Amino acid sequence: MPVIELLVIQPTPFCNINCSYCYLPDRRSRAVVSKETLSNLFTEVFASGWVRDCLSVVWHAGEPMVLPVEFYRDAFRTIDALKPACVSISHSFQTNGMLLDDAWCDFLLAEQVGIGVSIDGPRHLHDRHRLTRSGQGTFDRTLAGIRLLRRRGVPFHVISVLSSPSLKSPGEMFDFYVSEGIEEVCFNVEESEGDHVSATFAQHDVEAEFSRFMTEFWRRSAAAPGRMSFIREIDHAIRQVLRPQDAVTLNQLTEPFAVISMDVAGNISTFSPELLGLKNAEYGDFLLGNINTDRLVDMLAHPNLARMRRDIEAGVELCRQQCQYFSVCGGGEPVNKLSENGSFVSTETTHCRLTRMRLTDLVLDAIDRLPASGSAITGFAGQAHVPVVPDRLEM
Ligand code: SF4
Repeated sequence: MPVIELLVIQPTPFCNINCSYCYLPDRRSRAVVSKETLSNLFTEVFASGWVRDCLSVVWHAGEPMVLPVEFYRDAFRTIDALKPACVSISHSFQTNGMLLDDAWCDFLLAEQVGIGVSIDGPRHLHDRHRLTRSGQGTFDRTLAGIRLLRRRGVPFHVISVLSSPSLKSPGEMFDFYVSEGIEEVCFNVEESEGDHVSATFAQHDVEAEFSRFMTEFWRRSAAAPGRMSFIREIDHAIRQVLRPQDAVTLNQLTEPFAVISMDVAGNISTFSPELLGLKNAEYGDFLLGNINTDRLVDMLAHPNLARMRRDIEAGVELCRQQCQYFSVCGGGEPVNKLSENGSFVSTETTHCRLTRMRLTDLVLDAIDRLPASGSAITGFAGQAHVPVVPDRLEM
């Protein structure tokens, strides 16, 4: 029986900006998800019997804050009215932060919504890619949003997309975060997906550059205790390496319905959220049905699911047989295998070499360098409120 861990809901495809690396195809559309569609989704999710005691909901795949606070107040009330008492729900937004104001802060605090703000570092790095439709930089407004969150005491983390110049600037990136009081960071390397082809991935030395970046960033963090409380990539790699011997790595992106993605029209997909919106000769539009017309439990029997599942599981099996990092990875991310290798039935990608292999190497090297008397690996701190978001979601 599936276990739903994460719902990724597209409240609107619209985005108020136009980043050069964005993979979302309909970001000019001003469609808004209807109350009925949300109600149908949560009715079906709770009726499926596939939810345990907690469920994460990420409002994403468009800029969520282009909709008014009242939209989410209504949506949260609708969800709460449908929710069994034994299930707890944590909501989070991934936002460019430009529309944050006091009303948003009041709401985020009252509802304990997790916030990830997309900022790519200091102005000259951020404004290379994160632009308005007229080509203006967005740094000032994003930073104003971050400063407001800090003033108002709203917990948040940032997600920064690393491209070629920022990979060469770990010290400058670290100093920027510290100067702005940003304590929790997540990194995504600009990657190829959908129609976007990453120039960074095409660099022959991207793996070495990424390793150098993370090594130096971690070193600086360890040398300045109290400044950086969470570096997602390091935190995750340490957890994977230093886990109980018999602990199995669960990969929610390869488990049917562990992650459910719903677009603004109620179309449902699973596995990697980024598949929703893509098209492919073998799997069509990756859809399993529409929540306004189909039962969620019936989607288990959808032929598209059978095809995707067969091939994704075959890819995981190849990983299990061939990759020495399988125990810390669990078989990678289907959308990367498809985007980079042209098939789910494949193994290595640039994405997994960076986010799994090189980070694991980094942690193993750090453990090797520990004195024999044994001391803690510095720079690691677990965090409670950073949501379970696949590491490729960015806006
Ligand atoms: S690191 Fe790459 S090749 Fe290895 S198990 Fe993960 S996805 Fe497969």
